Amino acid sequence: MARILVVAEHRSGKLSDATLELCKAAKAIASAMGATPAAAVFYKDDSLANEVAKYIPEVFAVVDAKLEVYNAETYTEAVKAVVAAQDVKGVLIPHTYDGVDYAAKAALAIGAGIVSNCNKFEVQGGALVLTRNTYNGKIQEQRSIKTDKFVVTIEKGAFDKEAAGGAGSVAAVAATIPAPRRAFKEIVAMMAGSVDISQAKIIVAGGRGTKEKDKYNDVIVNLAKKLGGEYAASRPVVDAGWTDAARQVGQSGKTVAPVLYIAAGISGAIQHVAGMKGSQCIVAINKDPEAPVFNIATYGIVGDLFEVIPAVMAELG
Ligand SMILES: Cc1cc2nc3c(=O)[nH]c(=O)nc-3n(C[C@H](O)[C@H](O)[C@H](O)COP(=O)(O)OP(=O)(O)OC[C@H]3O[C@@H](n4cnc5c(N)ncnc54)[C@H](O)[C@@H]3O)c2cc1C
Repeated sequence: MARILVVAEHRSGKLSDATLELCKAAKAIASAMGATPAAAVFYKDDSLANEVAKYIPEVFAVVDAKLEVYNAETYTEAVKAVVAAQDVKGVLIPHTYDGVDYAAKAALAIGAGIVSNCNKFEVQGGALVLTRNTYNGKIQEQRSIKTDKFVVTIEKGAFDKEAAGGAGSVAAVAATIPAPRRAFKEIVAMMAGSVDISQAKIIVAGGRGTKEKDKYNDVIVNLAKKLGGEYAASRPVVDAGWTDAARQVGQSGKTVAPVLYIAAGISGAIQHVAGMKGSQCIVAINKDPEAPVFNIATYGIVGDLFEVIPAVMAELG
């Protein structure tokens, strides 16, 4: 049976959350198309392939010392080898910096059509129809693929993470991995003490409506701490130096998809929304009832954040 193949993503020997989300997506797409879900893992040994086998029934491992770190040339060659060795219909790649870097090359190498930045799918008359973001999320468009094989990049947070617990098989796939023409030198760590808000389950974000640094700390940081979450900000807050750049959400900041996103004093500009629209529940607090943020909010509170947040804090005890 044809396979829907996830290409696993890892850094410093650790699988990304996007890989687990794609395992979920592969199972859903395979089930709708009458195919089977599988994954390909490219690494220096088979340790990560064994790890991925907890999430998906079939794993193909391409093992080569040159695959320890991501490289577009080596990954493209490895995708080609797995697709040549197995019956693969579709390849799913995370829509991340690395994924976007090699997905089109991989599609070209296997003669597949590609749709990028997808967040939903449906099957119409046996054909896969994908919904994707365009114009920074302002428009959602649907695309189908005319070629026999397809490559799809999937937006972070579009699917839940698959839970571990399975015991899939791992099979080695032979591949001749070329010496890449560009060399990996080092991973430059983020600023000491900075957080990765993209992993947070609860985020309280403050915008220009928080007025000044002390007030931002007083309402946003304290509510985030009280809820056991992370605090974040719109760009003007970061530009003003009220919090650090690692906490900016949006087009030029982080993309987040928490269970709960509280946006206080944020108007909902498209560049901000691009980074948080995948949140499961969005609570907007804004004194302007016409603020665009209310168009994407699950719950909207029209009011002064300096009254609403202290009232919420008091309720939380
Ligand atoms: C190329 C580019 C990239 C960008 N990237 C990003 C990005 O990554 N992230 C990002 O956030 N922006 C980004 N921007 C900026 C973006 O366009 C907006 O300017 C920005 O998001 C606005 O931030 P804000 O909502 O905090 O401020 P404003 O738009 O000024 O909104 C403040 C809101 O607070 C409300 N308010 C004021 N006082 C109160 C109160 N007391 N109680 C309740 N509500 C109150 C107001 O009604 C208003 O809606 C980018 C822009 C460009 C051009």
